[in-house]
Amino acid sequence: MPDLSLRELLDLDRRHVWHPYGPMPGRQEPLVVESASGVRLRMADGSGELVDGMSSWWSAIHGYNHPVLNDAAHGQLERMSHVMFGGLTHEPAVRLAKRLVDISPEGLEHVFLADSGSVSVEVAVKMCLQHWRSLGRPAKQRLLTWRGGYHGDTWQPMSVCDPEGGMHELWQGVLQRQVFADAPPAGYEESYAAHLRELIGRHADELAAVIVEPVVQGAGGMRFHSPAYLRVLREACDAHDVLLVFDEIATGFGRTGTLFAAEHAGVTPDVMCVGKALTGGYLTMAATLCTARVAEGISRGEVPVLAHGPTFMGNPLAAAVACASIDLLLGQDWQTEVKRIEAGLREGLAEASSMPGVRDVRVLGAIGVVQLDHEVDMAAATAAAVREGVWLRPFRDLVYTMPPYVTGDEDVARIARAVRAAAREG
Ligand code: PMP
Repeated sequence: MPDLSLRELLDLDRRHVWHPYGPMPGRQEPLVVESASGVRLRMADGSGELVDGMSSWWSAIHGYNHPVLNDAAHGQLERMSHVMFGGLTHEPAVRLAKRLVDISPEGLEHVFLADSGSVSVEVAVKMCLQHWRSLGRPAKQRLLTWRGGYHGDTWQPMSVCDPEGGMHELWQGVLQRQVFADAPPAGYEESYAAHLRELIGRHADELAAVIVEPVVQGAGGMRFHSPAYLRVLREACDAHDVLLVFDEIATGFGRTGTLFAAEHAGVTPDVMCVGKALTGGYLTMAATLCTARVAEGISRGEVPVLAHGPTFMGNPLAAAVACASIDLLLGQDWQTEVKRIEAGLREGLAEASSMPGVRDVRVLGAIGVVQLDHEVDMAAATAAAVREGVWLRPFRDLVYTMPPYVTGDEDVARIARAVRAAAREG
């Protein structure tokens, strides 16, 4: 196909291409991005560049077109871009599994290399249900979570997303009915801890696992909560024979200021999901880690295998880039960079607290959120950010940013200006 004009490209996009949560036929007019480098997206309409305030949904932590990640991809591409993982193994996957085990909370030992975050959650759920089945407790097949969460768009993850006003309300009644605790308050409240303990105790006989996003609930509402609740969950799960799953797909790899958000509480889950920033946002890969106890439970069952094996499992290209991304992150003083961005966002967003229509402003690590007292007008808010030279994706009552860790101080200030403009005009 010859090069498309911008008009042709947009016409074809509208006619044929589904976008996330988009209508078909398309009624949206997306912006066309031509290339990306560092923290900047180059737009195809000749309008110049936008600073990426989203890290392509938490993933591009090192920015785009990074020479180290490019080298890792090129090198691996010439050796082997993909090979089936059934009966075969290879160095990139093995190296990545070892790296993940080394850097994850103590006790997580076994790694399933999935091909997306949602699939890694599916696998986590399968692991937990199968663990109890194998141990002769098949009634333990429900999940407990707290409201306001988000764990992905495939079937089982949808059942533990926020059930009301959330993205999957349409499917309530069809999805497996899970047990929902109230959404966690920001600060520690003993009465809420008691609510968690009571629910876990009451449903223990039918609960396979508790699954939560630790410290930050992302796509379900960008809420932050006290890490102390993670210790409450750990204790209650241990007391009642329930497994604990942390979904670190958004929070993993430094976003909240610790490598994994679980570290804020010093808690090891039985199962942990990572994705998004795993490959520095280059390729689609996620992982589910579990403890020896969970794996041994599965191995003791009548069906002693974890029955999951996607075609692109352990993809060597993604695994090689993931290893390079982890090395790149750990080879630098990333904590200082995340703290620097945190300070910049705090300063830049402070004045938003007194703006009309703003309910709350919160910053943690390299995450900044302005919550409004009304639904944001997405088109107006996005346009306001673009006028400031920044790419943001406001939704519901939220204007928020999670920039790449390599975003310089001036660009952090620009992003904060854009968040304020989007909150004002959206
Ligand atoms: N869990 C969390 C916490 C997420 O933020 C996401 C993605 N937004 C997912 C799971 C699903 O990951 P993916 O989009 O890669 O399937």
